[in-house]
Amino acid sequence: MPDQYAVIGNPVAHSKSPQIHAAFARQTGQDLMYGQLLAPAGAFAATASAFRAGGGRGLNVTLPFKLDAFGYATLLSERAHAARAVNTLKFNEGVIFGDNTDGAGLVYDLLHNLGCALTGRRILLLGAGGAARGVIEPLLQQRPAQFVLANRTSDKARRLAQDFRGAFEAGTYAALAGRQFDLVINATSASLAGALPPLPPGVYASGAMAYDMMYGKGETPFLAFSRRNGAALLADGLGMLVEQAAESFFIWRGLRPDTAPVLQRLRQTQDT
Ligand code: NDP
Repeated sequence: MPDQYAVIGNPVAHSKSPQIHAAFARQTGQDLMYGQLLAPAGAFAATASAFRAGGGRGLNVTLPFKLDAFGYATLLSERAHAARAVNTLKFNEGVIFGDNTDGAGLVYDLLHNLGCALTGRRILLLGAGGAARGVIEPLLQQRPAQFVLANRTSDKARRLAQDFRGAFEAGTYAALAGRQFDLVINATSASLAGALPPLPPGVYASGAMAYDMMYGKGETPFLAFSRRNGAALLADGLGMLVEQAAESFFIWRGLRPDTAPVLQRLRQTQDT
C-alpha cells in the first residue's frame, strides 16, 4: 500500500495541498497517497491519532489547528519551537515530529521565485497571529536592516516581540506614519474579509514590494492599496503555499521537488 499523508483542518475541502503533493509525488516517482482530513472542533488529537494508528506517515496542519499540532508533537524543530505553531507532522515509530515550514516557504518564494532581496532591507510585517509568528525567525535570519511588526491590537504585537526577546520593533499602525519600507508583508486575515489593514500612505519606498499571504481571490484590498500607494511589485501567497509544501515533502521523503511547474500549473487553473 502507498504511504499515506493528508492535510488536516476545519474547513479543509478548499485546500490545494492534495493537488500540490500529488504533483510532487508524480514528479519524483514517490509511491504515496495524500488526502484530506476534516477534524471536528476540539478533536484534533483524536483525528490525528486515528490517522496515525491506521498507518498514516505524516500530516500538514492548517487552520485552526496549528497550535493543537504544536502541543501534539513529541519532538519539535527549532523553528517550530520559535513559532509555537506546527504545520507539518511526521510520524516515525514512537516519535511525533513537529515542524513549521511556513517561514521557509515564504523566504524561498521571496528570494528565489520573486527575486526580492531581504538582507539589508527594511521589512514591515503586518499581523500578530499564527502566520506572522511562523515567519518571524526565518525572516530575521536573513538579516534585514530593519524589521518592524504592526498589529491592530498593539498589546499582542508587543507580547510577540517579547517572545522573541525584543529582536524587533512592534507596535501600532499609527506609529508607521512617516516611515518607509522596501517590503511589506500582509500576514493578517483582513483580506479574507475583504478588509484592509489601516496602513498609512507613503509606507512604500521606491522599488518596494507588497506581499499578501492570501491567495486565490484576485487582487486583495491590500494589494490594490499597495498598487495605488507606490509599491512597484505585487505578489500573492500562492508561491509561499507551494514552497512550504515542498519543504514538508522534503521532511517526509528526503527529496526536494521542482516547484516551478507546479506553481505555474496552479496559477493557470486559478486564472481560469
Ligand atoms: P490569525 O487569525 O491567527 O491572525 C489574524 C491576524 O489578522 C491578527 O493579527 C489580527 O489582528 C489581524 N487582522 C484581522 N482582521 C484585520 C483587519 N481588518 N485589519 C487589521 N488586522 C486584522 O490568522 P493567521 O495568522 O493564521 O492567518 C493570516 C493569513 O495568512 C490568512 O489570510 C491565511 O490564509 C494566510 N496564510 C497563508 C499561508 C500561505 O501559505 N500562503 C500560510 C499561512 C497563512 P488582531 O490581533 O488585532 O485581531
